[in-house]
Amino acid sequence: MNSEVIASYNQDKIAIATIGSHSALQIIHGARQEGFRTVLVCTQARAKLYSSFPLASPDRLIVVERFSDLLTDDVQEELLAENAILIPHGSFVEYVGAQAILDRLRVPVFGNKTVLNWETDRRKQREWLVSAGVPVPRNYPDLAAVDGPVIAKLSGAKGGAGLISAANREELQQNLDKAMIDQYTFQEYLIGTRYYPHYFYSKMRDRVEILGIDRRDETNIDELYRYREFIDGSPSYVVVGNRPLVVRESLLPQLLSDAEGLVASSQRLFPPGLIGPFCLEMVCQDNMKFVAVELSARIVAGTNLYPAGSPYSRYYFAGEMSTGRRIALEIREGLQQGRLTQIVS
Ligand code: AMP
Repeated sequence: MNSEVIASYNQDKIAIATIGSHSALQIIHGARQEGFRTVLVCTQARAKLYSSFPLASPDRLIVVERFSDLLTDDVQEELLAENAILIPHGSFVEYVGAQAILDRLRVPVFGNKTVLNWETDRRKQREWLVSAGVPVPRNYPDLAAVDGPVIAKLSGAKGGAGLISAANREELQQNLDKAMIDQYTFQEYLIGTRYYPHYFYSKMRDRVEILGIDRRDETNIDELYRYREFIDGSPSYVVVGNRPLVVRESLLPQLLSDAEGLVASSQRLFPPGLIGPFCLEMVCQDNMKFVAVELSARIVAGTNLYPAGSPYSRYYFAGEMSTGRRIALEIREGLQQGRLTQIVS
C-alpha cells in the first residue's frame, strides 16, 4: 500500500517529518543538511523550542493537542499533502503506540514497521538476539530460581522505568511490587561496563555502519557511590542524559559482528528485515565479552551527542554525519536510485 502512496508523491518535493520530542532536533537538522523540506508535528507547549534553533527548526510546524493526534485523518492528510516520510524515534513509538502505528498510520514511515513487533515484546526481542548469535543475560524462570544478583524488569517498561535490582532473592522480595509479580522478568544482573553502540544498516550501500557510542546517565544508580547509605531499597535507572564514549579498538570486531548478525537474522525472521538506525545496550564483562541487555530498532537519543558526527562516523564520511543526517542521506540515495519503496513501509 505504501508503495502506492510513494508513487503518488511528488518525488522532487519529498519532506522529512517527525514528532517534536526525543531526537527531533537532530532529525530536522540532518534532513536540512541533505536539502529536504522538513515538517514537525508538535504540541503548542513545545512549538517555541522547536522554532528557536535556526539550523534545526522545521519548515512547517503542525501543532496538535497531543502526539497521538498524528493518527487523526486531518493530520495524516496534511502529511500526505506534504509528500512526507515519517521518521520514528523512541518517543514517537511511546506516544503514538506500536500497534496504532502498524494498524492506522497511512503516511509512509522510514524503515520496516514490522520491526516494532519484535522490538517492543521482550520475549520476541530475546528470540531475535539469540537467533542472531548475540549473547544475552541469563533469565531466571521465576523468583524461586533467583540465585545471585538480579534485575527485575516490567514488561513494556522503557527508559529505565520500573526496574528493581538486588544482590539476592531475599533483598529483591523486599522491594518487588507484589501486585505486579506476574509481570516481571527476572534477569541476571551483569557486572561490567556499559556501551551503547549506535548502528545504521544501509540498504542502499548494503553495509552496517557504527555511527557512534554513548553511555546513558541514569538516576540515581550512576552516582550511587555518593549516597548509598541514604538509599533504602532499589536504586532507580531512569535515563536523564547521555555521555560520549569510544571503546577500546580491539573490542570493535565483536560490536560490529553482533550488529551484522542482527541484520542477517532480521532478514530471515521478518523480511525485508531491519533497515536504518538501531542500537544495542551492551555490558562488557571482565572477560572482555559483550552481553546485550536491550535492543532498540530505531534512532536512539544517545545519537543526539553527535550532530556534527562522531569519532566513528568520520571514518565512513568525510563531512558531518549524524544519525539524523544518515537517515536523510539514505532517503536521498533511495530517491536517486528509484528504490525508495525498499526503505519505507
Ligand atoms: P532496559 O530497561 O533494559 O533498557 O535497562 C535500563 C538500564 O538498566 C540499562 O541501561 C542498565 O543500566 C540497566 N540494566 C538493564 N539490564 C541489566 C542487566 N541485566 N544487568 C545490569 N544492568 C542492567
